[in-house]
Amino acid sequence: MPDDHPIIITIDGPAGTGKSTVARELAARLGLGFLDTGSMYRAAAAIFIDEKFDRDQVGEFVSKVMGADLHFDWSQDPPVILAWDDPYNKRIRDTDVTATVSWVATLGELRSHMVRKQRIIAAQHPRLVSEGRDQGSIVFPDAMVKFYLDADPNVRARRRAEQLRAEGHAAEDSVMLERILERDRVDSTRADGPLICPDDAVVLDTSEMTADEVVTRMEETVRERVSSLATDAGLGD
Ligand code: C5P
Repeated sequence: MPDDHPIIITIDGPAGTGKSTVARELAARLGLGFLDTGSMYRAAAAIFIDEKFDRDQVGEFVSKVMGADLHFDWSQDPPVILAWDDPYNKRIRDTDVTATVSWVATLGELRSHMVRKQRIIAAQHPRLVSEGRDQGSIVFPDAMVKFYLDADPNVRARRRAEQLRAEGHAAEDSVMLERILERDRVDSTRADGPLICPDDAVVLDTSEMTADEVVTRMEETVRERVSSLATDAGLGD
């Protein structure tokens, strides 16, 4: 397959399945860009909090997000999310943002804006591993390969708690489990772009797998798909 041939790989799934870690590593191994769409919703949640919007000011809030022109600094690895050209990569990991983002992500008007932005990003960076909740189902329905990652909620809660403790925050597995189950519930039941497993996705349960095993399995799947598409197109094997 020619080096400039567009390749979109999507990875969707609930929180704590290791999506970001494996998406980043898969992108590095395949020489593709990495798009973390969760960071866009998180940046919107940070704007909601920092600009002191109320929940009944949806129109004004979405206009503000549009004006912030969320985009990425691609010279960094991983790319850094910018709003009004300011880096938001640290702010979006704060606990108040994590607590607010799922509600913000239920807003249909905001989701339409994000879907448009993500497609523009893909037009500018057409070789991408894109990670989120609706990437294979809504944003890139024609993606070359779609993955859906899942894992036992207890394992996901433990991973998140370990990650937070490693960053110096206090975190109990049981509290993380409650938060993760609530985030899953909101993400899966919203009307617009709910978290679903696309019919044509390759499903991986990562409960008993290391990140390296997951990435290796994904890399093999993508390479097989690229090779069979190249053969079909008469580009050799
Ligand atoms: O992946 P991450 O945990 O950073 O995503 C934060 C939140 O953003 C998710 O819980 C979800 O509510 C929302 N999100 C979304 N659609 C995406 C990516 C993230 O609704 N494509």
